[in-house]
Amino acid sequence: MLTQALLHDSLKYGKCFTSLGKSADYIPELARINKHRLGVCAVSCQGEILEEGDSRIPFTIQSISKLASLILAIRDLGAESLFQDKVGVEPTGDPFNSIIKLETKTRPFNPFINAGAITVASCIQGANSNEKFQRFLEFIRKLCHNCDITLNESVYQSEKATGDRNRALAYYLKASGILEGDVEECLDFYFKMCSVNVTAVDIACLGAVLANEGTCPFTKEKLIEPANAKAIRALMLTCGMYDGSGTFAMTVGFPAKSGVGGGITVSIAKQMGIGVYGPALDERGNSLGGIKILEYLSEKMECTLF
Ligand code: GLN
Repeated sequence: MLTQALLHDSLKYGKCFTSLGKSADYIPELARINKHRLGVCAVSCQGEILEEGDSRIPFTIQSISKLASLILAIRDLGAESLFQDKVGVEPTGDPFNSIIKLETKTRPFNPFINAGAITVASCIQGANSNEKFQRFLEFIRKLCHNCDITLNESVYQSEKATGDRNRALAYYLKASGILEGDVEECLDFYFKMCSVNVTAVDIACLGAVLANEGTCPFTKEKLIEPANAKAIRALMLTCGMYDGSGTFAMTVGFPAKSGVGGGITVSIAKQMGIGVYGPALDERGNSLGGIKILEYLSEKMECTLF
């Protein structure tokens, strides 16, 4: 069982590792962040909240946003068409921003690598990037049960100014006929969705919605079809930590999605969501202290999937 004392101990354990990682430096605004921050929050499917450390410090959601955009694209296009024509559901074993498989395979391997997420972003309905972003913002606020979530303008500008690798992926996808529509509009939306500010409490709630078969534990509103919540948890387990997904399944054993802002959201079916925040990243772009907290919790709670 998860208790306040256990959460406290997990944070203490996680803190031993923050000096070993570094904050993402390929996005200049993220390089400036204090890498020793660490926070954790758990939200149960009944709506109880436990938190420790820097659980209310805002950070940019980055790739955790790919969960929300995927759900929107499934709504707009239907799961069958999206996974058949646009993006696969297989892990790559490559870094999140890898370009290497685009030439040999028609579709990106999965919706969580950047190539897949940019493709998914292009499938979301909206006349322009602004309209798409407004829909995304409204939805992420519901998923996180926080109507104050907003864009971090400086991180957005920083990513937009330096995101040439993502630009390369997007233009390649356009040339292959996978990405439709205006490439720069699509990228603008992608950079924006990655740059909204959230806290560990927010992303714990997002994990709890997925754990609770798509229903918000607080408002009881059904936000995701149960079958889609299940599919997304499966994708989180196999692809959510990029080329660290296999190791994470062995050492932690929870479906999870990371972001280079330092967040990880975890979803334990029918039990809880957990959000961790620690901007010191490992070489794969996953929060180092965050992973250590989750390793500790998974061992002590004895509730890994395996
Ligand atoms: N916005 C980041 C990027 O596109 C997201 C990557 C991540 O969080 N892993 O590079």
